[in-house]
Amino acid sequence: MSAIDSLPPLREVIARHALSAKKALGQNFILDLNLTARIARLAGDLTGADVLEVGPGPGGLTRGLLAMGARRVLAVEKDPRCLPALAEIAAAYPGRLEVLNADALAVDALAHLTPPIRIVANLPYNVGTELLVRWLTPPVWPPAWESLTLMFQREVAERIVARPGGEAYGRLALLAQWRCKAQIVLNLPPEAFTPPPKVHSAVVQLTALPTPRYPADPAVLNRVVAAAFNQRRKMLRSALRGIAPDIEALLLAAGIAPTARAEEIGLEQFCALARLVQG
Ligand code: SAM
Repeated sequence: MSAIDSLPPLREVIARHALSAKKALGQNFILDLNLTARIARLAGDLTGADVLEVGPGPGGLTRGLLAMGARRVLAVEKDPRCLPALAEIAAAYPGRLEVLNADALAVDALAHLTPPIRIVANLPYNVGTELLVRWLTPPVWPPAWESLTLMFQREVAERIVARPGGEAYGRLALLAQWRCKAQIVLNLPPEAFTPPPKVHSAVVQLTALPTPRYPADPAVLNRVVAAAFNQRRKMLRSALRGIAPDIEALLLAAGIAPTARAEEIGLEQFCALARLVQG
């Protein structure tokens, strides 16, 4: 019996199902069920929510989510070797866990769930940023989900919550913070995982705002920010030259010095510039 439920400890589950970690699938498992329950709690009140989990692996976080009372968990796992272990969890929580054996990048998992929806995952690092960008850019806002509670390598987590003025600040920070409250809620050393990865990790909590912090067209804002940071060492008047014929005047109208560089400019000014570019 484990710390949070009547199922066996994860080491035993992994040994019984011969789940040796595969590097190509980003398999660094959390075996401490007190820790997975803690991560589940960071996601807020799960009792009335459907939860999407990407990459359940042997099911440590899945068990945390269910033990914390998630109404229903949909777990999308690419590795078929994990399915028997996940089936044992589903049997222990009748009607509350559905497992989809699929590549999370290839399925529209959110379409299977009923709001309120929370997304909680110890993400495979090789697909984490791609999934985050997709969740942050739905066709309409507010999105189907209310919150994202996601494990990233620490360097990526720092890029998500970064403020202007540093190396970490860029497209990801602006995309995340434009329409979400974003904060690092837990830092974890490599030893928290089996096998330990080479890098430190952090859990980021993103809560969807009902409306963006400042008005702007998403496609125009994305174009301006991409151009600005693609040449982040250049002054904005040259980095943004291709964006509009009179870019220097638009920068001034947005309250931005044309000689400034992208990493000095905050979200409010980028949104003002995007509105002026759109005309
Ligand atoms: N949630 C487990 C935990 O916390 O111990 C495992 C996390 S491990 C970092 C990432 C998991 O994502 C692995 O189980 C891996 O097989 C799975 N995975 C990797 N790529 C995936 C993909 N494209 N779609 C779905 N699952 C994937």
